[in-house]
Amino acid sequence: MTRPLSAGQLADRFDSVFGAAPDGVWQAPGRVNLIGEHTDYNEGFVLPFAIDKAARVAVRLRPDSRVRLLSTFGNQGLTTADAGSLNRGTARGWTKYPLGVLWALQQRGLPVRGLDLLLDSDVPRGAGLSSSHAIECAVISALNELAAAGLDARDMVLATQRAENDFVGAPTGIMDQSASLRAAAGHALFLDCRDQSIRLVPFDAESAGLVMLVIDTKVSHSHAGGGYASRRASCELGAEVLGVKALRDVGIGELDEACGLLDQETFRRVRHVVTENDRVLQTVGLLDGAGPAAIGPLLDASHASMRDDFEISCPELDLAVEAARAAGAIGARMTGGGFGGSAIALTPASEEQQVRAAVEHAFAGAGYPAPDIFSVRPSAGAMRLA
Ligand code: ADP
Ligand code: MG
Repeated sequence: MTRPLSAGQLADRFDSVFGAAPDGVWQAPGRVNLIGEHTDYNEGFVLPFAIDKAARVAVRLRPDSRVRLLSTFGNQGLTTADAGSLNRGTARGWTKYPLGVLWALQQRGLPVRGLDLLLDSDVPRGAGLSSSHAIECAVISALNELAAAGLDARDMVLATQRAENDFVGAPTGIMDQSASLRAAAGHALFLDCRDQSIRLVPFDAESAGLVMLVIDTKVSHSHAGGGYASRRASCELGAEVLGVKALRDVGIGELDEACGLLDQETFRRVRHVVTENDRVLQTVGLLDGAGPAAIGPLLDASHASMRDDFEISCPELDLAVEAARAAGAIGARMTGGGFGGSAIALTPASEEQQVRAAVEHAFAGAGYPAPDIFSVRPSAGAMRLA
């Protein structure tokens, strides 16, 4: 696993590349969604937390409109663009994310000039931990401050959503940015995706003797792929037939009636969303009361619902979850959009090594590439480091 550069190291590297010190260094974390999958675009509830892996950007505003971008990752070299003529069609690779944020700020009428930017990130790419939003949130935190744009966290969430939807071209909701920008250490972020209201819920797994393991299956997911779009379409169809604005408005008690009104597949999609919203509320209730050790069965039920009703799991994710549970995890589920990416396993600290070994062994036995397994801690949201 890559090690992040310190803020000082990043500033030094910036200086040697661009020939001057940066105006500052900002970081924004990746996230794990504890529970509440595919509920965001149904105006429902999600419960992500920010992780102790983050994107960091050193940024210096320029007096002209030139944009120069460099990442410590890979050998991609310097990318240049003109802030006066940003074009969604032409941005390539990771530069879509910072350029998309610039573009979204311009769409809000903010005069953003040129800049030099150096990115470093230890959020695994394409693992469902939102490495892309970590970049966008670090960049918008920097530009908001440097350009004195005066955006609050909600504005920044919407601006990065605009960047991701309309510039990058990924039809994502507001969960990832909200977690990256608004989370707090030792807490999960209970987010109502209808009105964007939040509440920080205590989630201190460590004090409860638990570790949260992330199992990156290395199966690459793609939001742009047909699976995500078709699930969204099923949810829209379900809401339309049931006569509600969004599936958020359907209660558990209404599922029997919905069963008679919807085709079988649409019904199963709807049932996932409706029961998942309920599981988020139950999880919040347990974290407020009994604590993290009580939420295992809800994680398990969430996985079963995604596997069987929403059909967004894959054999590698199912195996990770099963092997972790069999070896002592108290609850496990795939996390993120699905079709690959990562699973999470809430595990007693005393069983951590056993669970890691069991998952690795199961993957080797199935002939799958070795997964990356690491623990994450609920961490602070975006901040300025230097
Ligand atoms: P996820 O957000 O789940 O990690 P995405 O496909 O949305 O997956 O975003 C992954 C993309 O983000 C990568 O393909 C790459 O373009 C970009 N990216 C993430 N981290 C870095 C980095 N450190 N350097 C360059 N690009 C990065
Ligand atoms: Mg992403």
